[in-house]
Amino acid sequence: MLSVVIPFFNEGPNVDALFARLLPILDGLGVTWEVVCVNDGSRDDTLARLLAVRHAHKAVRIVELSRNFGKELALSAGLAFARGDTVAPMDADLQHPPELLGTLMAKWREGYDVVIAVRDHRTGQSLGHRLSARLFYWLFDHMSEVKLPREAGDFRLLDRRVVEVINRMPERTRFMKGIFAWIGFRQICVPYEQGERAIGTSRWGFLKLLHLSLDGLTAFSNFPLRVWGLVGAAVSLLAFFYGIFRVVRTLVYGIDVPGFESLIVAIMFLGGIQLLTLGIIGDYLGRVFSEVKGRPLFIVRAAYGWDEDENDIHHGPLPSPVERPTRRPG
Ligand code: UDP
Ligand code: MG
Repeated sequence: MLSVVIPFFNEGPNVDALFARLLPILDGLGVTWEVVCVNDGSRDDTLARLLAVRHAHKAVRIVELSRNFGKELALSAGLAFARGDTVAPMDADLQHPPELLGTLMAKWREGYDVVIAVRDHRTGQSLGHRLSARLFYWLFDHMSEVKLPREAGDFRLLDRRVVEVINRMPERTRFMKGIFAWIGFRQICVPYEQGERAIGTSRWGFLKLLHLSLDGLTAFSNFPLRVWGLVGAAVSLLAFFYGIFRVVRTLVYGIDVPGFESLIVAIMFLGGIQLLTLGIIGDYLGRVFSEVKGRPLFIVRAAYGWDEDENDIHHGPLPSPVERPTRRPG
């Protein structure tokens, strides 16, 4: 069975077009399928429209989260609820062509565990957007031990084993791209042409993307924490030699009243570095705090299609609504 997992956040106008295109393709694949729709706290008519689709197609299941948890967590919820032997996360805005699912399945049958759909080029994005994406990838590559595949979105096909591993990851800061890269397995990329967003605008503003990048960097790298030790050592060394120079100078030329500038400059420079360092330590500390609180990743308000279903194939235990789906043993 193939599970297609789709997060929805205020995608009401896209719902009908999406299913009109997706369902015939799924039927043509020749496998049993389900669509796990995660309604990520939409404030429009997304849920009503999804329920209407479900009315006609019982294999379309809906998980309704209690509020907007963000795409990464909505995806985690979908992965926890999906039952398929393969699971394909996809966007609701038709930027991920469902036609590609057949190709992804073919690669999976060849024995790959993760088949990644990779954008040929970025469409509909501003120059600033593309430049900051490049900067992020450059930083990430140099700071963390995992390598992110370029231009890979969340459109991919995952083997059951991979999904189980992801469901067991206990961390709250879910930087999915990093997690996918970190877990390994046999991965392969398949190129595709990304279309324009069907209706509406991207849900990712500049600040949201900035937060996502910071989450990704701090979740997969300790470099920002460590680098200040090196900077501190270098600055101290410089200060040490400068101190010797001043003492010798004073002994030779006597006390010299000018020199306040150098003092002020040194104090301000070091003060700045100290505040910056404190900020970075605080950032990591905040993340440790949110991990330690151990709150559930997401809260499910309602799930449609997991208990009353006659054509339900896999009847595994449901993840408890207010708990993380699975906990790593030990
Ligand atoms: N999305 C979500 N929760 C959010 C933001 C987005 O579930 O808080 C969903 C959205 O409905 C869409 C997918 O994530 O299905 C990708 O969103 P979008 O198209 O805005 O992102 P982009 O294509 O610009 O990366
Ligand atoms: Mg999009």
